[in-house]
Amino acid sequence: MSFGRQEVGPEADEQELMNAFGELIEKKYKSDFEMLSTCEEEIFSFEVEWDDLCADPVIQGHLGDNLDRFMTVAERVLNDRFIRYMGNPCRLVLRLSGLTDHHKRRLDSLRMRDRRKLFTFDTLVVGRTPPLGYLQKAAYACAAKGCDFVKEIEQRLARQRESPGPCPKCAERFLSGMEPDEREVAARFLPRSSYYLVNEDLRYIDVQYLSLMDALPDADGPWSLGQHVWTAVVDEDFVDAYPIGSLVRLHATVHVDHLPERTFDKDTRRVMILRVEGIDLLDEHATHFDEVTWTSEPSWR
Ligand SMILES: [Zn+2]
Repeated sequence: MSFGRQEVGPEADEQELMNAFGELIEKKYKSDFEMLSTCEEEIFSFEVEWDDLCADPVIQGHLGDNLDRFMTVAERVLNDRFIRYMGNPCRLVLRLSGLTDHHKRRLDSLRMRDRRKLFTFDTLVVGRTPPLGYLQKAAYACAAKGCDFVKEIEQRLARQRESPGPCPKCAERFLSGMEPDEREVAARFLPRSSYYLVNEDLRYIDVQYLSLMDALPDADGPWSLGQHVWTAVVDEDFVDAYPIGSLVRLHATVHVDHLPERTFDKDTRRVMILRVEGIDLLDEHATHFDEVTWTSEPSWR
């Protein structure tokens, strides 16, 4: 077992994606950054056209099953490489726009096999929670005397907080001076490390759960509704931006989540939850939906 070993593959892969995305932004979205020089918002949704992403062979290869990773890496590029364009410091949130009819789906047709896939849904917002905070990134510092090991861990939404395993620096100290075969055995029984959270390095973002129903064009009226109420998570500047009654076109990936307030390990039931990567408004406020029961509770309660 070798501590601190770097895996070359994924890193090189990530670098290639970062360069391809940086070049695309440089080439096609420079004027957006010129506009950003006068932006006074602290958080700003930066929309990128789906067609532009697909037109680049390197980027296209990352849009399949692991869109989450693409969004994370690309958003980091936006914020790191283009900060010089901003007059006031502002956090850019990458949003997708312009998905084609090919991505269109009804919420009511979603099944477990759709997990991780990206779709476009025409929906009515029928409920929403108050804004919630989500601990997106936590930094853990090893509590052992004289050890300066710190590890940042990106946290997943609505999961038990993930903490690091044994501290590699303490392990190295523990194992040093041992013979190779003795080391191998000892490495399996490392003393448990204890960590404390570095308060300055916690990153919280705002999130909100929306309850949604399919909104379908109807011959009798402008729209009719689907059968079920579905849950989506929006973040950052989308929080509180879409009141109950909004008709929205969501670009969202399908995720599977445990039932809230259940122990994740022990309950095998799962709900599908949408993670929103972009929103277009469809219409003005949907006052003509008389039959809707508006709710402030997310649909899974
Ligand atoms: Zn340590």
